[in-house]
Amino acid sequence: MEINEIKSKLGRLGIKPSKRFSQNFLISENIARRQVEAAGIQDGDRVLEIGPGLGVLSKHILDKTKNVQFIEKDPHLAGFIREEYSADVISGDAMEEDLSGFDVVIANLPYHISSEITVRLLEAGFRTAILMFQKEFAVHLTASPGSRDYSRITVFREFYSDAEIIMEVPKSNYYPVPKVDSCIVKLEGHEPPFQPRDIDQFFKIVRILFSHKKRTVRNALVSETGVLGTTKEELKPLLTDLPFADERAFNLPPEKIYEISEYVYKILKE
Ligand code: SAM
Repeated sequence: MEINEIKSKLGRLGIKPSKRFSQNFLISENIARRQVEAAGIQDGDRVLEIGPGLGVLSKHILDKTKNVQFIEKDPHLAGFIREEYSADVISGDAMEEDLSGFDVVIANLPYHISSEITVRLLEAGFRTAILMFQKEFAVHLTASPGSRDYSRITVFREFYSDAEIIMEVPKSNYYPVPKVDSCIVKLEGHEPPFQPRDIDQFFKIVRILFSHKKRTVRNALVSETGVLGTTKEELKPLLTDLPFADERAFNLPPEKIYEISEYVYKILKE
C-alpha cells in the first residue's frame, strides 16, 4: 500500500495514527504477501488476524481463504475492514477475546502488548503463527540457551512452539515510521517437550531463575522462598541434591529447568 493511499484512507476514516494502539501501518505489499505465504494456509484452516488495521495483510489472507476471524480494537478500522472485505470482524481487544481454535495466526502485532498477546496465543495453541515484532523482542523469543538474549519468554515459547526469524523489516517499511526495526517470526506449535507435575510451579521457577540471572540456581530459589510457599530455614537443608544448583539461568535449557522444578516439587509437595 502506497504511503499516499494509507494517508488518504486514514483521512477518510478520520483517524490519526494512535500511539496508544501502536498504529504503524505496513507499506510494503511485497512483505505482506511474503508474510501470508509463509503461513502455509491449507484447505479447511481457520485463520486469525489480530489488528488488521487498513487490511494490508487481510486482503492476501482473504485471497487464500474466507475462513478468517479478524480482531481489531479501533472501532473505525474494525468497521472499515468489515465493509471493505465483507469480513467477520470482532471490534474488540485481543487481550480479552478467546484466541483458541485457530490453525493459523497472522499479525503485525501492536507492539505495546506483543508479549502479552504472544503468551495468550501460545497457551491457546495453533499450528503456525507468522507474527511481526519489534526486533529486540523477536531476538529474545528465538534466542538459544547460553546467549545474552535467552530469557523467560524464550523458555515459555520453547515449551509451546519452535521459532525462527524469517525476515528483518527495517522501520522505513511503516507509516508512521516507528522508532525501531522489526522482524517476522514463524512459530510452529508443538506438544510440550515435557510434562511438569505442577505447570504453575514450573513457570514460577522460570520466573525466579530469570529474575536473578546473576545468582546460582540454589541462591535464586533461596531468595524467593515466599513465592515457593516455604521458608529459608525449611528449604536450605532440602537442596542438597538440587540439580544444576551452581548453574545460572541463562545456561539452562528448558529441560534442565524442568528437572529443577520436579526436584522442588518432590521436596516441597510430596
Ligand atoms: N496489520 C496492520 C498493518 O500491518 O499495517 C496494522 C498493524 S498496527 C502495528 C497494529 C494494529 O493493531 C492496529 O490496527 C491497531 O488499531 C490494532 N490494535 C491495537 N491494540 C489492539 C488490541 N488490543 N486488540 C486488537 N487490535 C489492536
